[in-house]
Amino acid sequence: MLIFHTVWQLQHYLQLQQNNGCSIGFVPTMGALHQGHLSLLEQSLQHTDVTVCSIFVNPTQFNDPKEYPVTTSTDVEMLLNAGVQVLFLPSVAEIYPNGTQNPPHYDLGFLETVLEGKYRPGHFQGVCQVMHRLLNIVDADHLFMGQKDYQQCMVIQHLIQTKHIRTQLHIAPTLRETDGLAMSSRNMRLSNNDRLTAVAISEALLQLKTKLRQGNLEQLKLEAAVFLTAKGFRVDYTEIAHAQTLQLMHNWNGSDPLVALTAAYLGEVRLIDNMLLAETD
Ligand code: AMP
Repeated sequence: MLIFHTVWQLQHYLQLQQNNGCSIGFVPTMGALHQGHLSLLEQSLQHTDVTVCSIFVNPTQFNDPKEYPVTTSTDVEMLLNAGVQVLFLPSVAEIYPNGTQNPPHYDLGFLETVLEGKYRPGHFQGVCQVMHRLLNIVDADHLFMGQKDYQQCMVIQHLIQTKHIRTQLHIAPTLRETDGLAMSSRNMRLSNNDRLTAVAISEALLQLKTKLRQGNLEQLKLEAAVFLTAKGFRVDYTEIAHAQTLQLMHNWNGSDPLVALTAAYLGEVRLIDNMLLAETD
């Protein structure tokens, strides 16, 4: 596996590969890799000739990036075992050569006003800043991201369309632990007790899915929040949205595609998850 720290070295190598007719797949991550990340890398390895994985903890999308787990040597080992061809490990200065003080603003419209956009102001601006830069650097044919971050996938699709980026986005299903908890780098920050409790997040979503009926949805959402609160979570939201637009839904006509989404804290750790409730044919 080749490891690049600078943009020019990475681009020089990828240019040679593209000149040889190779397709490029890209899996951006923040490290602390797990099987969920590996499933994205496997898709890329299957569908493209050269897979680039980036590890970069983006300072502009966090309140406190220093709290994010860093496990670079085990990450490198996992990438080697998976057969990934290229790891891009840039410094902050390499990604933000003009600094992080006056970043560009992205018009995300409605997407930035709900759910994660509402509860983490500025978060998707940071996501767009880093992803716009990374997509320009890598110039990949295919981009692989996880449904785990449902709203993020919609934001990136919006970015790709509005900035006329040629890369095609592929969304991969959420990988879960055997008890149902969505895999996440943040799970390693949970205490042993909280790790056992955390499964309630996916249980709450499953209950929503099972109980879904045509008509008013407010009671269902409330029950999910009450369930999580009783388990010891501090709930940001338990919502049901239109799966394609993310418009929050209050009533269901029995046919619109729906997604349930939740974010809640266990101690200091904020967990998010989502589940498709009713899919289009
Ligand atoms: P992160 O390192 O958390 O920024 O995640 C990098 C990519 O991995 C994003 O596209 C995530 O949506 C995806 N991802 C994270 N967790 C999972 C999971 N459990 N299953 C599938 N993909 C995931």
